[in-house]
Amino acid sequence: MEETKYASVKMDHPHWSLAWEAGPAKDRPARIYIGSEKAAKSRTWMTKFNITRVVNCTLGCPNKFGDKEYTRLAISDDINENLLGKLSRGIRFVEDSHGANVLIHCSKGISRSVSVFIGWLMKMEKLTLRQSFFYVQAKRSVADPNSNFMRQLMTFELNLFNQPSLTPDDLLPCPFCLKICFEFALLACNHRCCIHCFKKLPKNATCSHCSYEEKLLKHNNSVEDLSDFLHTMCPNFEEIKKIE
Ligand SMILES: [Zn+2]
Ligand SMILES: [Zn+2]
Repeated sequence: MEETKYASVKMDHPHWSLAWEAGPAKDRPARIYIGSEKAAKSRTWMTKFNITRVVNCTLGCPNKFGDKEYTRLAISDDINENLLGKLSRGIRFVEDSHGANVLIHCSKGISRSVSVFIGWLMKMEKLTLRQSFFYVQAKRSVADPNSNFMRQLMTFELNLFNQPSLTPDDLLPCPFCLKICFEFALLACNHRCCIHCFKKLPKNATCSHCSYEEKLLKHNNSVEDLSDFLHTMCPNFEEIKKIE
C-alpha cells in the first residue's frame, strides 16, 4: 500500500473513524469510514461526511435513509458466527463504490465492522493480517475484533497468501484489558500481558487466565455450566479447551 492511500486526516471518534482514503484512482471507494449504529442513524453526520454507501454489519439496525445504498451483512457477535461466509459480499460492495464514500458500521464499531474492514484491507490492499490489525488500530483506537473473527481472518489470510502472519498465541487476549495486542510482556506465570497493562500493573494483580484455570479445575465435576463459563469469563477458550 502506498503512503498516499493512507488517510491523511486523523479522525478518530468513538462513533466515527476515517479508516482509509483513496489515492487518485477514482474507480475505488474514495473514503472508508468505520462507525457505530449511532453514526449510521445520524443524518447530520452522514451528510457531513458525504456517505452514500453503507455496509450494515448488524442484525437489527435499520437501513435508515432512502437516498443511500445499503448492503446488510447480518453478522452476530456470537462466538460461533461464520464471518467468512459473509465477508466476500461486503468486500465486493465496498470495492464497487466508484469514488463514493463508504461507511462500514455495526453497533459500536468495535468488532464486526472492523473485521470486515480488515478483510477488505487484506484482499484489496494485500496487507497481511498483522499489518491490517496495526493499521486499523492506528485509525480507530477502539478497534477490537473478537478472537472468533480473528481466527477466521487467519484462515482468510492463509487462503489469500498461503502464509500466516500471526500465530494462535497472538490471539490470546491480555488477561487484564482482554484486548488482543501483539506487543506484550511475559508475566511471572508465563502468560502474555499487553505492554500497556504491564506498565501499570498493580502488585496484587491476578492474571485472569490463571484464575480461570483455577476455577475450571474446581468445576471439574460439574461441566453443565461450563460452556457459558467459557464464553463469558475467559477470552482464552481455545487454551482452556485443551485443559478440558
Ligand atoms: Zn492489557
Ligand atoms: Zn497467568
